[in-house]
Amino acid sequence: MPHEPFTLGSFEVVPLCDGWAPLPLDDEAPGHDVDWGEHRSRFPWAFPPDDAKSWAWHVHAFLIRHPDGPVLVDTGIGGLGRPPFDVAGRLEDELAAIEVSPDSVQHVILTHLHGDHAGGACAGDGSPLFPNARYHVHPEDWTFFATHRTPKDFTGRFAMAGLEGLGMLDLDPTDHEVMPGLSLRHAPGHTPGHRVVQLEQADATLLLVGDLLHTTPQVVHPTWRSNHDEDPELAAEHRALWIDAADREGWTVCVGHFGRPFGHVAAAGWSPI
Ligand SMILES: [Zn+2]
Ligand SMILES: [Zn+2]
Repeated sequence: MPHEPFTLGSFEVVPLCDGWAPLPLDDEAPGHDVDWGEHRSRFPWAFPPDDAKSWAWHVHAFLIRHPDGPVLVDTGIGGLGRPPFDVAGRLEDELAAIEVSPDSVQHVILTHLHGDHAGGACAGDGSPLFPNARYHVHPEDWTFFATHRTPKDFTGRFAMAGLEGLGMLDLDPTDHEVMPGLSLRHAPGHTPGHRVVQLEQADATLLLVGDLLHTTPQVVHPTWRSNHDEDPELAAEHRALWIDAADREGWTVCVGHFGRPFGHVAAAGWSPI
């Protein structure tokens, strides 16, 4: 467990690390010239050493400890990992390292159904890996990924078919609280049903942004299109909206694909904790 947990009142958010892979910088920020060297010197953890052409795509899920029971936000890649990516479905080991039993997880929140977020929701035979949990998925993602295929079927939807018949799926389309202080908010574009998770305690807020962000330049330029988004226009609109709100309100932000997941956003860029 390479990352420190973040505590917000009665919530403790523990990053679970599924690994990382180098992804080509050329695919990021289409149509824009980015001074990647500047980002590399400010955020060395965001880039692989000795590789000037890539950034370090980290894959994290988050275990939220709470007196009412553990909540898991995203599930890593599960059995969908493939070489050469060093991302291999380590969630079970990561949970064991912090002494959380999969049986004890009360809620599994899937920000969306791309494979690096939902791949670890179920075993290869479709049986749930968190047998006592309620799985929260926005219905627009459930519908979209029933027919939409990504290259090599890199979606978690196919690994989760068994959940529907078991009655373990919560497809509530509304923005709502899963438990007091923990709410789901629709932030579409990356995928149609993409959600962010908002934790609120007293006057402090932590926003888990799902895949609103992949690279540090997006913090300064949230309206830029990204090749990672299913609907780039809509995604940019919602990225800008949430980044702006987090900046204005001083919220702490949690980014699954950053090597330093917790930080603050501002006009000057990402400021990791
Ligand atoms: Zn995604
Ligand atoms: Zn992702």
